[in-house]
Amino acid sequence: MKTLNMMRRAAAVAGAMLACLALPLAASAQTYPSKAITLVVPFAAGGPTDVVARTLGAVMTKSLNQTVVIENKVGAGGTIAAATVARAAPDGYTFLIHHNGMATAPALYRKLPYNPLADFEYVSQVIDVPMTVIGRKDLPARDFKELLAYLKTSGDKVNLAHAGLGAVSHLCGMLFRQAVGVDLTTVPYQGTGPAMNALLAGQVDLLCDQTTSTTAHIKAGSVKLFGVTTPSRLKTLPDTPTLAEQGLKGFEVVVWHGIYAPKGTPKEAVDKFGAALRAALKDPAVAVRLAELGAVIPTDDKLTPLGLQSWLQQETQRYGPVIKAAGQFAD
Ligand code: ASP
Repeated sequence: MKTLNMMRRAAAVAGAMLACLALPLAASAQTYPSKAITLVVPFAAGGPTDVVARTLGAVMTKSLNQTVVIENKVGAGGTIAAATVARAAPDGYTFLIHHNGMATAPALYRKLPYNPLADFEYVSQVIDVPMTVIGRKDLPARDFKELLAYLKTSGDKVNLAHAGLGAVSHLCGMLFRQAVGVDLTTVPYQGTGPAMNALLAGQVDLLCDQTTSTTAHIKAGSVKLFGVTTPSRLKTLPDTPTLAEQGLKGFEVVVWHGIYAPKGTPKEAVDKFGAALRAALKDPAVAVRLAELGAVIPTDDKLTPLGLQSWLQQETQRYGPVIKAAGQFAD
């Protein structure tokens, strides 16, 4: 009897100890995130990807109750950042924001050190942003027609800034160069933030960049606007014709963004980070600000892991042939 009681007591103590051991585990699962989360931006600070990440990150920091730290990991048109995140620990504390570059890089780089379609968990799409073709303030052309004439006479003396092979500014710039049939000289930067500074300083002539970055400069008159890259005119710049309207048939580039995590990141982290992102996009102040800058928040079905994954697959298939057909993407 005594032995039986002792055994029961021992079992109760062991049970209690196990319960204690289990507690921190259960608690930590419930308290994700328990430390700061890094959101990697593939381009320099001050550019459109960075501005979107910082705007959303500030709101998400409040709702997640942990700081969303923005880390600018620049270089090679965004592929260094994507490779870094693909190799990061899949613990829910590293995410990547990236744009169309995730779909174009496989066609642009012979040896890409990651597979966008296999090495990530997909969190959500983020926002869609039109692009604008802009020039330095004192460029001797007042509109697109005059720009074309200027380009035909000045040829490769005209510089076009971009953010590297794989950046949308490069994609847009190369499509533009091909469409106008002039061999513009290209100048790479680590993001269109620095590229814009060079344009404002008159060090380069042309830049193709997102409205999230260009709208304020266009409205202030510090750069010249030659056209927008969407199929129809923008509400935010209603007097500006599209490039297609001005003769560049089929010229269309819209920048879409996605949030990715290393493959194997726990579903709970993907879900919580995604929920915080969706809430931030619906924050009234954020929504108004993004709309003023020409950005469009995608429909709810796109703001999901599957919404990003299937879009990335479609876009990868779409861009491959376009890039091959253009055949002149290498500078
Ligand atoms: N807009 C840029 C691009 O051309 C990058 C950036 O956000 O700085 O891809």
